[in-house]
Amino acid sequence: MSPAATAAWIGVGSNLDGPAARVRAAFDALATIPATDLVAASPLYGSAPMGPADQPDYVNAVVQLDTALDPHALLDALQRLEAEAGRDRGGERWGPRVLDLDLLLFGDRRIDDARLRVPHPGIAERVFVLRPLADMAPDLEVPGLGRVDELLDRVPGGGLWRLEATGA
Ligand code: ATP
Ligand code: MG
Ligand code: MG
Repeated sequence: MSPAATAAWIGVGSNLDGPAARVRAAFDALATIPATDLVAASPLYGSAPMGPADQPDYVNAVVQLDTALDPHALLDALQRLEAEAGRDRGGERWGPRVLDLDLLLFGDRRIDDARLRVPHPGIAERVFVLRPLADMAPDLEVPGLGRVDELLDRVPGGGLWRLEATGA
């Protein structure tokens, strides 16, 4: 990858239609984004749903990309992959979905516009993001918020469980 590439961290989630397989398929799909390499993927975690409780548990993971795209072009690519996975955008907020790809961090950039907020606004409250991030990069600095391991220490640890490699 060119020296201009940026480390981008993607939160992957699914709670429908074989979520663990959906998350693993998303790793492969993320590796096909143009001008982008997949560097690493975290273990898979199960998590209790955020928001509406009458929906299945989630499977979550985090992926590290190295990309020469700009952040908005990367968001376009993520939304294209969500659509290709069959995501229906009509549901309620935080309702069940086959695939959610959130841009968590884009190098040390801070972005706040109509389409994109980076760091992702939920990052500091979400154990299902911080735990897998900490598996890969505990000393990573979240711009304006602090180190990943310090943020993880501050969130309640419940509602998250590590899935075995063969897990459902
Ligand atoms: P949350 O963002 O709280 O996890 P969600 O993932 O369910 O909720 P989506 O329906 O996937 O929300 O996305 C709603 C909108 O959020 C998207 O249309 C997108 O423009 C916007 N958005 C803003 N910042 C980001 C980001 N960092 N990553 C992904 N989408 C973002
Ligand atoms: Mg999300
Ligand atoms: Mg999303």
